Amino acid sequence: MRRALVTGGSRGIGAAITRSLAQLGHDVWVMYRENDEAAEKLRRELAGAPGVVHLLRCDVRDRARVRASLAPLLEAAPFSILVNNAGIASDAAFPAMTDEAWESVLATTLAGFYNVTQPLVMPMVRARFGRIVSVGSVSGVLGRRGQVNYSAAKAGLFGATKALAQEVARRGVTVNAVAPGFIETEMSASVPREEVLETIPARRFGTPEEVASVVRFLVSEEASYVTGQIIGVTGGLG
Ligand code: NDP
Repeated sequence: MRRALVTGGSRGIGAAITRSLAQLGHDVWVMYRENDEAAEKLRRELAGAPGVVHLLRCDVRDRARVRASLAPLLEAAPFSILVNNAGIASDAAFPAMTDEAWESVLATTLAGFYNVTQPLVMPMVRARFGRIVSVGSVSGVLGRRGQVNYSAAKAGLFGATKALAQEVARRGVTVNAVAPGFIETEMSASVPREEVLETIPARRFGTPEEVASVVRFLVSEEASYVTGQIIGVTGGLG
């Protein structure tokens, strides 16, 4: 089967994507920042899966380290599937936002996209096959108060997705993004649930598996004519 790289693939939505790809028989490299325990636990859980899970502890913001850890893997073979899922939120009303909150959120999403995607693209182009999916957010479409940094980062990710899709479409490489609404993970644990539920037509949060199933389609061979798209997974929100 194929080789896949999932950033932030050790927890939450990323873990659901890793499970889904490994169960399909893809070998999955999981890039995560620091939580070794969560990553090891997922690897153990998937030890019997048809695809092999490999762990890569590497901060997507650290360009030199990302390049150094990907180079030997790319020498062996191209990746066919990349899921840019690593992301953080650091919410605050804009006047109270710290420099750190602004920079860390933008760097994780946008520098992360650049650092990880750029080394993988040319090998995909040469192979005439590639599937790149980035995990954005409905906040990048609608904007959300308290999330000026996060909304800007995710909107930027959508721009990058659409532009890169145009560059590589003739080479069999598709580039898409998903825009999840509120999904049950550690990241959304602090969201004021009652207040938010009223805004979601489905009146519930989504599950990581519901996002993973859309990603699974977008990285499949069947999705060959879908590119440059932002697919909402929101229970009707937005
Ligand atoms: P979690 O906080 O549950 O998991 C985040 C994952 O990303 C972890 O594997 C974490 O690694 C990894 N990660 C974070 N920063 C870095 C970094 N600098 N370098 C490498 N890996 C990193 O997040 P979710 O599953 O909730 O979110 C996944 C994606 O989905 C994000 O992009 C998020 O913005 C987006 N999203 C989430 C929504 C939600 O409601 N949960 C809604 C809409 C979008 P480690 O375990 O080592 O920290």
